[in-house]
Amino acid sequence: MPELPEVEALGAYLRERAVGRRVERLEIAAISALKTYEPAPTTATGRPVIGAGRYGKFLDVRFDGGLHLVVHLARAGWLHYREAFPSTAPLKPGKGPIAVRVRLDDSSGFDLTEAGTQKKLAAYLVTDPAQVPGVARLGPDALAADLPLFSERLRSRRGQVKGVITDQEIISGVGNAYSDEILHMARLSPFAITDRLTDGQLATLHTATRQVLGDAVARSVGQRAAELKGEKRSGLRVHGRAGLPCPVCGDTVREVSFADSSLQYCPGCQTGGKPLADRRLSRLVR
Ligand SMILES: [Zn+2]
Repeated sequence: MPELPEVEALGAYLRERAVGRRVERLEIAAISALKTYEPAPTTATGRPVIGAGRYGKFLDVRFDGGLHLVVHLARAGWLHYREAFPSTAPLKPGKGPIAVRVRLDDSSGFDLTEAGTQKKLAAYLVTDPAQVPGVARLGPDALAADLPLFSERLRSRRGQVKGVITDQEIISGVGNAYSDEILHMARLSPFAITDRLTDGQLATLHTATRQVLGDAVARSVGQRAAELKGEKRSGLRVHGRAGLPCPVCGDTVREVSFADSSLQYCPGCQTGGKPLADRRLSRLVR
């Protein structure tokens, strides 16, 4: 799933490539992906792209005259920039992975795509990003929050730190992959309880958050959109690396599985050498 660094990089790419170009046509191929009725997609026609950025993990494409295309890419969504489209014919709704296509006046443009059968990509055409419910509820940005704000937000919800730091209403931008990396760098168990974290542990967690995300942004921005996903994988130390040695201490990276997700961590760095209980595994051996 694209998280803060990838969405930041997609915004940077659009700022470089699309700003100044006029929209020729905004096409909706997956009707269910567009969550708004007003303004209509034809409202974008003829408007120049004037900027691109993000709110948490939401991408915001800004058009002249106060119109925004706000997109949540969900788990399997992505943005593909096209130097040219194979055809000028409008997309046929409901066919293939393309959810939204934006054609620009230099015959380039971009597709918002979603792989797989679970369609969760969400696009909103709004005059103010705060009209998007998920944006209005976002907590402070993970890269912008200073230590006092970060600590206050984390302590405001009692729970396992892995769940709290990925809750977009607490702190925005961090998802499953980068939270594994942040907790590894901070040497914290993913199951540590937030309101028991010391000031020192919160300071370390804050520093790790900024460093992991900052490094990932630096690696990602300037990459071509198509290369971003591979770059994310190569920069990770524990996420998606169960069974491989930890690059810090050499212990074997382990995994805890849930119904539709999993987390990875290093026992040597994070849990005093003790593996965490994996409910799925313990059910199997019982
Ligand atoms: Zn380790």
